Amino acid sequence: MNKDIATPIRTREILEKYGFSFKKSLGQNFLIDSNILRNIVSHADLTERTGVIEIGPGIGALTEHIARAAKKVVAFEIDGRLLPVLEDTLSPYDNVTVINQDVLEADLNKVVEEQFSGYDDLVVVANLPYYVTTPIIMKFLLDRVPIRAMVIMMQKEVADRITASPSTKAYGSLSIAVQYYMDAEVSMIVPKTVFVPQPNVESAVLTLTRKEQVPVEVIDEDFLFQVARGSFVQRRKTLLNNLQASLPNGKAKKEQILQAFEQIGMDPGRRGETLTIQEFGALANALYPEFR
Ligand code: SAM
Repeated sequence: MNKDIATPIRTREILEKYGFSFKKSLGQNFLIDSNILRNIVSHADLTERTGVIEIGPGIGALTEHIARAAKKVVAFEIDGRLLPVLEDTLSPYDNVTVINQDVLEADLNKVVEEQFSGYDDLVVVANLPYYVTTPIIMKFLLDRVPIRAMVIMMQKEVADRITASPSTKAYGSLSIAVQYYMDAEVSMIVPKTVFVPQPNVESAVLTLTRKEQVPVEVIDEDFLFQVARGSFVQRRKTLLNNLQASLPNGKAKKEQILQAFEQIGMDPGRRGETLTIQEFGALANALYPEFR
């Protein structure tokens, strides 16, 4: 087996060879601990049938661990300076394709069609650039990319928000949007010391696994997320106040909003943070005819 990229010495050698300087604005914190990488990959249950999408391969530290365990890796890297580095470090692996593109700009379903046609198992594995953690996760979910799971490193604080339960401080529209599609579990807390340069925040690896069935059937998923977001605009305010302020023409439609609450037997004086996803689903369905 090839020597790991992710040792402190080898990483330093590679960075020096290419005169690479980190760009903080691109969330460049590279992993230099092979144990953590093995642990991340083990949570993804990769087999020789699995196709993997990686976001931000950096110098290939995580990519090579994925390449050893999966059928194929397609990695999106925004920083063109890393392309010659990756060509070098990943040369032992013939199952890696690097796409030099901002993942947020990518047509993910087209990439899946072109790169993973015939695959029956697709996952995302990544040490995410922290400045765009949430948009990346939401893009994969809202674009309906047919993935089984995502095993992703992020700020611990975001992982806590995603996995939060109702009536906790961390619970919010992000918890609802992700948990609508995926079971979410923190798999590992990761110390700052395993990165160069070290990030300012604590990190966690989150495992998201697609639910067999969504927790509540809604008329329009986007409207559910709109209602959820609107219900948390001011956490201390009641649902009625928040929805009046956030729904189109909500101020003038107080009566219609109250009718929707009455229809489902819910107290409009409750706060958003107390509602389960099922309750948000019922509320969104009741509000839908008036607001969509
Ligand atoms: N996977 C490597 C590792 O674990 O050592 C690097 C992870 S580093 C936290 C994030 C990587 O994402 C960097 O290589 C950065 O250039 C890249 N990146 C940042 N924004 C991106 C974007 N919008 N699309 C694709 N890659 C991005």
